[in-house]
Formats: sequence, structure tokens, C-alpha cells
Amino acid sequence: MANINIQAPEVSIREVRLGSITGFNGTAKQLVGCAHNGELRDSSRSFSQCMGCSSGNALCQLAMITDAVVVNHAPVGCGGDFFGYNFVYRVGQMERDLKPAIGRYFNTNIEENDTVFGGIQKLESTVREAYERVQPKAIFITTSCASGIIGDDVESLANALSEDLGIPVVGCFCEGFKSKIWTTGFDSAYHSIIRSIVKPPRKKSNKVNIINFWGSHIFDELLQELGYEAQYIIPFSTVADLEYISEAAATIQICPTLGTYLGAALEEVYGVTEIKAPPAYGLAGTDIWLRDLGRILHREEEVEEIIKREHERIMPELEAYRKKLKGKTAYLTAGAAHGHAIIALLRELGLEVQGAAIFHHDPIYDNGDRASDALAQDVALYGDIKNYNVCNKQAYELVNILNKVRPDIMIARHGGMTLWGAKLGVPTLLIGDEQFGFGYQGILNYAERMIETLDNKEFVTNLAKHSTMPYTKWWLEQDPFTFLGGDTHVQNY
Ligand code: SF4
Repeated sequence: MANINIQAPEVSIREVRLGSITGFNGTAKQLVGCAHNGELRDSSRSFSQCMGCSSGNALCQLAMITDAVVVNHAPVGCGGDFFGYNFVYRVGQMERDLKPAIGRYFNTNIEENDTVFGGIQKLESTVREAYERVQPKAIFITTSCASGIIGDDVESLANALSEDLGIPVVGCFCEGFKSKIWTTGFDSAYHSIIRSIVKPPRKKSNKVNIINFWGSHIFDELLQELGYEAQYIIPFSTVADLEYISEAAATIQICPTLGTYLGAALEEVYGVTEIKAPPAYGLAGTDIWLRDLGRILHREEEVEEIIKREHERIMPELEAYRKKLKGKTAYLTAGAAHGHAIIALLRELGLEVQGAAIFHHDPIYDNGDRASDALAQDVALYGDIKNYNVCNKQAYELVNILNKVRPDIMIARHGGMTLWGAKLGVPTLLIGDEQFGFGYQGILNYAERMIETLDNKEFVTNLAKHSTMPYTKWWLEQDPFTFLGGDTHVQNY
């Protein structure tokens, strides 16, 4: 398990902490073998088209705490995506019948002069202004490349303002330039919560933390049946809700890429046991996950009954879907752990996975437990996956591969990726809610949406006829990994 230090202002980046990478080309089995034998090396790209940023990933979690404020200490361009977070926030409020409220994000507008003379005064006046306007229960300060490079002492100011304003004012150190792995921003956000908001437990509760993005509430019934209560974190939590997540009976991860750090920190610092089996995707994966949950919550017998009942319920429908999807091919692009989950779903439904472009790879999670490796579980349950590419959203690689592979369906988890399949006339399915494919019902949910997508091929066929591609014929004829350098040789495991 990672050595978690909640006294330190910041958490180290994933490349250093976990040995995570963003460049690899081989098979899933080779990747797992390299990772488990300590031989994983990053293959860097000599050309990079775009990348995400840790700051955005930190903000997307902190900005969803309903009574907190985020001050982004950055040039105004770093706040260019605020509207997107507000959109997700407003949609989520409607889904949860919450009172409509606008997101509270402020930006300090670091300008050229500030990079010479320092931006700390601007930060202080922005925090005070935010406090006056909103009266929040906590203020998080997210840093940026500019504030990091000029060396503004955000931590000292945050500590002084906490005392002065009487609420937690917390630095969240998530400068984009520090890591190529933007999910490092999740760790930064969670570190700022666990070091400054979460308090030691007063007693144990019957709540189970669910670290999730902002998806549907699918755990309520299951946990009620087992005598527990679901506590969804972080989106739509209040500061008071977060103070005692240390009292929960266990922590469930909807996606270890998201919650690896928080799950491990809650266990290591406050003894909240994390369910370490990979999230429940696919039939066998759901059985494994449920048994781990039952063991930790001391509900083994009840869980066996649920497994039996659910198998009987879904098998007839599952078999029917398998018949319809037999012989179909798929290619997917997604973040790491959720990509592994989609592979399990596709394989369970009998599709041939022709390949995957997965945004990064964590060879191990913060809990240090190899049993949490969902890709290793996929390989063990369903066999190897050829053309497994770790690719941080480089569209030029993806288009080149898709043009060669031409799958029956492309599955994507992130907006902005689906258009590449559609432009090539490949039916493309985007599902943003991780919970949609979770558990036994999730397999059926996914199958239904894939069949709908395959049945509506005409739309993308017509779109492809009238689309232009920004990539030249020359590029589409090259090896997709022309710009993926470094040592790409991998052992055959
Ligand atoms: S923090 Fe850095 S990488 Fe992130 S948006 Fe700002 S300038 Fe870009």
C-alpha cells in the first residue's frame, strides 16, 4: 500500500507514485506482464496532438461539492472549461431533484505583470471576494502552470485565510505541466479533501462510500438489501457529508482510475476497508466483486443468494443478446479502468475486441493489491486483447487505426472521440455514465444500446459520405505508431 501522508500539502504524481505510463503498443497480456514484473516503460511520442490537464480533473471533483467554492489561481484561459462543469452540475441537479444552483468557480486571471511581480495578492483578494459573495463552507484553491512556475506560496496564504475566515481554505496542487497523466488531478483533489476536510471517525456507521463521477444511483437497493446505506461521493456531497466519510463501513470504487488514492487513503488513515476486486463489469467480474463486497460487509450468504437470483434473472435475455451480437467486432477508446470494464462487457456479450486505445495505464493502484488489476482479470477470464494501445487521446493515432481496423462498432467513454468513428462510417456508441454498465443489469443495458447503435447505421453511413477528414492519405497509410518512440519492445508473457 502507498505511504499516504495527509500532513503533506500535495500528493506526488502518478508517474512517480504508481509508475503510470501514457505510451504503449502491444497486447493486453504483454502490458500486464510488464507491469507485474516491474518492467513497464513509457514510450514517449515525438508528436503529440493534444493532452488533458490535471487542473481540470481536480476541478471537476471539487466543483461538484454543493456548498464549497473553487478558486482557480491561473490565467483566465485555464478556466475556459468552467462552463462544461457547470453544465454537468446542472444536469446532475435535475436528475437528483436538487434545487437549481449555478456552479461557484472563480479564476484569478493571472496576467503577464503577475508572472513578474507575483500573483498572491490577486489570489487573496479573489478568495475574500468569493467568501463575501457566496458564504461557502470551504474554499479550494486549484493551482496552474503559471502559479506553479512563478512559485506563489499558495499553502501559506491558504492557511492564513483559513484562520481569518473560519472555514477550510485548502490548496489543491494540480499544475498541468507536472504530469502527463491528467488523472493525477483526481488524486490532488482527494488529497486536499482528506487532509483538510475529513475528520477522524467518532463511531462506525452503516454507510458505504461510493467514489463515483456523477452517474446514476444504482447501489441503493443492493446495499439496503445487505443492511447498509449508499453514500455517493464526491459530486453533490456537502462539506458536512465529507467530514465523516471516515466513519463508513467500506468504500466502493466505480472506477479505480478515479478513486485509487481516496480509497487507499481512507483505508490507510481511517481504517475504512476498500473493496479491492475490480469494479463489477461482466458476469464473472460481477460475481467476483459481489463476493468481495459480501466478505467485507459480512454478508456472504446473502450475496450468494443475490448471485443465484440475478443469474437466473438475466441469463435468458443475455443469451438472446449474445446470439444477436455473435460475430460482431468492436474497438474501444476510454480511460484506463473504465476501458478495462468495457472490455469485460464486450467479451461477455461475445464480441471480438479488435483493439483498444486506452488513455493511460497504472501498473498498480495505491492499495498495492494486484487483485485490483481489472486488465489482468480481463485477460485471465477472456483471453488476450491484441492491438492494446495506451494512447492519451491522440486522435491521429486513433483515426489511423480505425481506418485500418474498420470495426462493426466503436465504443467511446469521452465526448470528442466519437466523431472519428462516425466520420469513417463506423457506428459509434458513447456512454458517459459508468454506472450504466455496472453489475448484472449493466450487461443487458449495454447490449441493448449496442444493438440500437448497430441498427441505426444509416446515420453514420450518410455522415461519412458528406464528411472530410483532416488527415491526409499519406498519414492513413503509415504505421499508426510512427511517432511512438522509446523502447516499444515488450516481452512475450
Ligand atoms: S494548468 Fe497548465 S496545462 Fe492546465 S489549462 Fe492551465 S496552462 Fe493548460
